[in-house]
Amino acid sequence: MTKHRWAWSEIDTRAIARNVEAFRDYIPASSLFMAVIKADGYGHGALPVARAAASAGADRFGVATVDEALELVEGGIKRPVQVLSEPPLESLPEVVSAGIIPAATRLAFVEELSRVATRQGVTATYHLKVDTGMGRIGIRPEDASRFLLHAAKLPSVQAEGIFSHFATADVEGDWEARNQARVFGEMLRGLAQDQISVPLKHLANTPGTILMPDAHHSMVRVGLGIYGLYPSAECRKHIKLEPALTVKARATFVKSVSIGEGVGYGLTWHAYQPCEIATLPLGYADGIPRLASNKMEVLWRGQRVEQVGRVCMDQFMVALPSGCGVAVGDEFVIIGAQDNEHIEMDELAAHAQTVNYELTCSLGGRLEKIYL
Ligand SMILES: *Cc1c(COP(=O)(O)O)cnc(C)c1O
Repeated sequence: MTKHRWAWSEIDTRAIARNVEAFRDYIPASSLFMAVIKADGYGHGALPVARAAASAGADRFGVATVDEALELVEGGIKRPVQVLSEPPLESLPEVVSAGIIPAATRLAFVEELSRVATRQGVTATYHLKVDTGMGRIGIRPEDASRFLLHAAKLPSVQAEGIFSHFATADVEGDWEARNQARVFGEMLRGLAQDQISVPLKHLANTPGTILMPDAHHSMVRVGLGIYGLYPSAECRKHIKLEPALTVKARATFVKSVSIGEGVGYGLTWHAYQPCEIATLPLGYADGIPRLASNKMEVLWRGQRVEQVGRVCMDQFMVALPSGCGVAVGDEFVIIGAQDNEHIEMDELAAHAQTVNYELTCSLGGRLEKIYL
């Protein structure tokens, strides 16, 4: 299982399925569930995640790019796949022929979508993106009616959805998140008054889904949560999720060092007592943050041990008590559980001054993924 390399990640797809089920139970039966699997399923592998999520009742999938969407379609995923931002016009022939649903933020985009769909003899759908306060992409809410009325005159194209995105939903009771929800709701009432009907309205990402039940509308878009990660500590008390990713390694080298001996680039750590130094064969090229050097811990025999010296590109070192019996081939857990102890992704992210969102993407790069 680790024939070529003594460092790997294990992905528990059943945990992903159980997390999707937990969200399905959490939202009204009338709301659709979009599993967001951009960035190769937040580093977990888009296709295995998609299959697990589909088996647990995910209705559709959200990605960031056309290539990510094509990977799912070509991989045999039959449920709708949406690109959550507006892709380049040049991609539209492939987007339409693959049946991918793009987001739209400009009329010129919908006009081109209409031309391409007409040429291919099909009807293309899109979701209109509205900026209710995130300040990223999207038309202003007051322009939604005009946009949709104009687009409705175009042949071969239909607005299947209208959506927006939260900036601050991870803070419970946050005023600005509540204001975004209010602006979105008012815009929807305006559309209804203008007799414009758009089937799917959606606003909530993972934190919005957990903390703002009023914002579920006709669909939620959940990324982080399906991997068993929480957007903020406040979210933990509302829903029980299981982390799907474990990162493991075996010691490739062990030696005893005496007081004063240095370890690693820059010799940033020196032994303050005799100890055993074990080397693990993974590093920042695998997503282990260099910023966590001399701060992070790993598990060995269910105990925490300190990482010492700078994390290198492909290796890092850990210090163990003198005479503890650590040996080449011993298994270490970098993220996840071992016996009764565990290290969460959030802990390592904090050492690296970042968030679990970024760390999980980085860890998806070079490490071989083993699916449980
Ligand atoms: C990434 C993304 C999501 C998922 O966000 P999470 O916080 O990971 O659930 C939802 N909607 C849009 C538009 C996104 O870009």
